[in-house]
Amino acid sequence: METKTIYFDNNATTEVDPQVLEAMLPYFQSRYGNPSSIHHKGGEVAAALREARKKLADLLGCDPSEIIYTSCGTESDNTAMWSALRTQPDKRRLVTSRVEHSAIINNAAFLKRLGYQVIEVGVDREGLLDMDQLTKALTPDTALVSLLWANNETGVLFPIEEVAALCSERGVVFHTDAVQAVGKIPIDLKNSKIDMLSLAGHKLHAPKGIGALYVRKGLKFAPFMIGGHQENGRRGGTENVPYIIGLGVAADLAASRLPEENTRVKALRDRLEEGLLKIPFTMVNGNRTFRLPNTTNVSFEYIEGESILFHLSHEGICASSGSACTSGSLEPSHVLRAMGVPFTAAHGSIRLSLGVGNTDEEVDKALEIFPAVVKKLRDLSPFWKDDGPVQESDLLSCDSEVCQVCN
Ligand SMILES: *Cc1c(COP(=O)(O)O)cnc(C)c1O
Repeated sequence: METKTIYFDNNATTEVDPQVLEAMLPYFQSRYGNPSSIHHKGGEVAAALREARKKLADLLGCDPSEIIYTSCGTESDNTAMWSALRTQPDKRRLVTSRVEHSAIINNAAFLKRLGYQVIEVGVDREGLLDMDQLTKALTPDTALVSLLWANNETGVLFPIEEVAALCSERGVVFHTDAVQAVGKIPIDLKNSKIDMLSLAGHKLHAPKGIGALYVRKGLKFAPFMIGGHQENGRRGGTENVPYIIGLGVAADLAASRLPEENTRVKALRDRLEEGLLKIPFTMVNGNRTFRLPNTTNVSFEYIEGESILFHLSHEGICASSGSACTSGSLEPSHVLRAMGVPFTAAHGSIRLSLGVGNTDEEVDKALEIFPAVVKKLRDLSPFWKDDGPVQESDLLSCDSEVCQVCN
């Protein structure tokens, strides 16, 4: 019998909605015109693009002219960072956090090598932003503050509106990586001080390969992709028409499903989480109130996250370790480390991210599978004996210099 897939990895990517795909198809075939062309084949596509842009703008509560289409969330993040630095060449400081997505972290590390000063603001044990540290980091030399809105690994939310208002007061440009937030929490850019916001289509049931960057009207901007006059000269390259059309439909769907995300999906997540917490030596990482409705990050102490994922996958459950941890690496997630999650818990952490496609039956099934998987792995773990963790006094040092347990 084929195992039925239970997809709890919606923060990694989502299934393209059938309505999204259907809307896209004509733009691969009969409606193939270039929107820049003067003739009617171009005109009909240009009109469809305007409509799609309006739909995305409505989801964000902004003006269509404030949206620049990109190829992905990563491109949006890169564009925002480079634009802020290039439009303010005298300012050499960049402020971000210790728990950002690699699209920001690795870019910030690169900028540091180029001589910029990078400040990574910390978080507390629950993943909440250290506002004091952030406030102190805002100097006249600061070109940009970039913070993610919702953490992709824990779902924890940063007080983005508050930070945006603070940055605006201090005259500092503020960008938010809202890739995980869009479609899961209400966003109203008209009534915010956010200068730039990144999103990615594939996290909200549009395809992979389309993203967008909101740039507030009046904000100085420098393009990342220099070429034609597309996107008002802010991003050269012929528009990815079918994907932009798809993102428009996905934006409409996201707006209509926002209530469901925050009721039915949230209830599924909560029930799953409560059930998992009944397994001994299990804990949730991150503040459980100030959080996305669909995400939970759970640590099963004394076992390896990667092994859990492997066994879950065998049972049909798709989840993620949240960390960009390459196999064989001893390093747990940078997010959990920044939060100070203890070593034995950080290693046994997994991320479960639900979506509108999930059902009650799937949660029931998962709650049957998890205890057995965890028990099996603990029975094999050198840190577990009988029904509890091995006492420290029972542990022999392995004498390895790289062992993080012994050292
Ligand atoms: C997925 C994700 C990105 C990257 O988006 P891509 O479209 O894969 O480039 C950036 N930031 C966050 C928070 C994400 O979750």
